[in-house]
Order: sequence, then C-alpha cells, then structure tokens
Amino acid sequence: MKFVVFSTKAYDKEYFEKFNQDYKHEITWFETALNADTAYLCRGHNAICVFVNDKMDRKTVEILYENGIRLIALRCAGFNNVDTEAARQYDIKIVRVPAYSPEAVAEHTVALILTLNRKTHKAYNRVREGNFSLKNLIGFNLYGKTVGVIGTGQIGAAFAGIMLGFGCRVFAYDVRENERLKSRGVEYQDFCTLLSESDIISLHCPLNAETHHMINSEALRMMKNGAMLINTGRGALIRTKDVIKALKSGKLGYLGIDVYEQEEHLFFNDWSSSIILDDDISRLLTFPNVLITSHQAFLTHEALEQIAVTTLENISDFENNLPLRNEVIL
Ligand code: NAD
Repeated sequence: MKFVVFSTKAYDKEYFEKFNQDYKHEITWFETALNADTAYLCRGHNAICVFVNDKMDRKTVEILYENGIRLIALRCAGFNNVDTEAARQYDIKIVRVPAYSPEAVAEHTVALILTLNRKTHKAYNRVREGNFSLKNLIGFNLYGKTVGVIGTGQIGAAFAGIMLGFGCRVFAYDVRENERLKSRGVEYQDFCTLLSESDIISLHCPLNAETHHMINSEALRMMKNGAMLINTGRGALIRTKDVIKALKSGKLGYLGIDVYEQEEHLFFNDWSSSIILDDDISRLLTFPNVLITSHQAFLTHEALEQIAVTTLENISDFENNLPLRNEVIL
C-alpha cells in the first residue's frame, strides 16, 4: 500500500525500512508535522502514518478525505490528537499501536524519579568540572515511601511493579481495578486519598475529557507538602500554570515531565539557537527541582521495533480487508 509518514525522524525511517522488507509497502517520508496546512501532501496515497504531535482536527480530516486517505495509522498508543468524530463521519479508519513495550515508558518514569531525587544530572556536570562537593545533593530513600499511580493499564502496571521492587507502598487510582496488581500488594484508593497520602504521584492514564487538567490547583492543594509529581502520560493531564504556582510556593517539591501541554510547538526539534516564546516552559526550566525530557519515554530499540512491525501489520490488514486488530473503535 502507498502511505505517507508525517513527522519522520531518522529512527522512524531506520526501523520502518528494516521491517518493511517483509511487507513491501510504498512509503513516502515527510519530516513536516501533519496539520491543516500540510495535509495536502498526502495526495496520491491511501493511508497516512502519524505520531503524537500530528494534529488531525476536523479541517485536517476533511482535507485527508478529499485527497483519498481512508486510513490513519497512528504509530503511538494515544489518539487524543485525532478528531475521532470527524474521522467516523468520513469513514476514515484509525489504527494504533496499543502497546509497544510499556516497560520502556515505565522505566523512563523511574529514571525521572531517580534523577530528580538523587540529582545525578547535577552530580554528572559538577564532577566533570572538577567539583567534587556534595552540597545540595541530598536525596531521600525510595524504600518505604508511598507511590501513587494514576492509571494502572499497561504502563502504570509495569511502573507499579518496579516501585514494589524498590520496597515502596503502592497506591493506585483507576476507573478499573487490576486484580493482578492487587494480589501483588497494590492498594486501590480514591483519587483524593491517593493525592493526599502519596510521596510520589505518577500519571499513566489517557488524556480525555475526564482526565484533562486532572492535576489542577485543587488537586495540588490536596497533595503532601513537597510531593513529587511525574507525568509521562500526556501534557494536558496537568494544568501547567497551576503547577508553576505550586512550585513557586514550595507546595510541590519536585516535577518530572516527559510530556508538556504545549509540546507540539517545541518537542522533537532543536530550538537551541532560537528565542523560546513559550513562557510556561521557560519558567519551568528555571526551577532546580524540575526535570523535563522531550517525550522520549518510548524511545528504546524494543519499542521502536514493536511500533514499526505493528504499524506495518495494521496497514497490511487494512489493505487486505482483514479485521483491524488495533482499530480505534469510534
Ligand atoms: P492503557 O490503556 O493500557 O492504560 C490506561 C489506564 O488508564 C487504563 O487502566 C484505564 O482504565 C485508565 N483510565 C482511563 N480513564 C481514567 C481516569 N479517568 N482516571 C484514572 N484512570 C483512567 O494505556 P497505557 O499503554 O498504559 O498508556 C497510558 C498513557 O501513556 C497513554 O494514554 C499515553 O497517553 C501515554 N504514553 C506516553 C508515552 C511516552 O513516550 N511518554 C508512550 C506511550 C504512552
């Protein structure tokens, strides 16, 4: 099948081309992101392949349809960037990669926690400059602390398992309880109890109307003084302006984020020689207790392989009129 890939990075091309030898799709690569201005580039193809910051609002979906696109193949799990109602109206199918190494994201979440806590990023720079002082490097033991996991699907469950291994007490909040996790010692709580009793809170639920800005001033007020908040889910789970206020007042002790509300304007690109116009991220970058990575939690060899293979299979299933195993049901 002829399909076009938007937001291409070198690693996408490498992994897709390696595995496409078995599928023989005709692939066109564009580095540009998909939006209403770039959607016309899909002309002459039957499907598009997109990532987390490609924007498929109603206007974009209309242009895709007019240009013959009948399949949107997301090479990620989340689909909050697609106007699913518009896609349904135009009978454009949506497929995704529901799970690609949940451990990759869970392990990156732990990396954020350990770095923020034990300040290895600061120690690394210090020692390289010949500064062997330990001043301001004091952390805390994870052993015995309470970790609150919001969303215990594939990634949240993998993360909870790792934190149990550290000897943490693990609280969870989800609209569905995971019996296996319960049998391993994870304790489900209501949202408010989890917020008020956790030393570390980590977000692993999807972004939707219910979860949008679930961490706002009210939620932050309920948290323990000095708590650590980690978000590797989606940026808008957090109301950034409220989090900045909580950091300024000292209410929030640490923030580690791999996702950011306005990330589509920044992430995955090099702005190091430009003036950054986003004042919220600029403010976040000034805090010594904030660690930001640019949506890299998924970035492991294993996950990239799984993303490429599942996406190529999804497209082949559509081409061959087979049931779409990974369809986003609208
Ligand atoms: P999943 O579908 O397996 O799990 C999501 C869990 O959230 C489910 O258990 C679901 O019941 C729960 N949930 C849904 N609504 C909720 C609500 N209102 N409150 C509490 N819990 C709720 O998904 P997953 O594979 O574990 O991924 C979770 C999220 O992580 C994805 O939606 C995506 O946004 C994000 N993600 C980020 C990266 C990254 O690189 N940073 C990579 C993959 C996924």
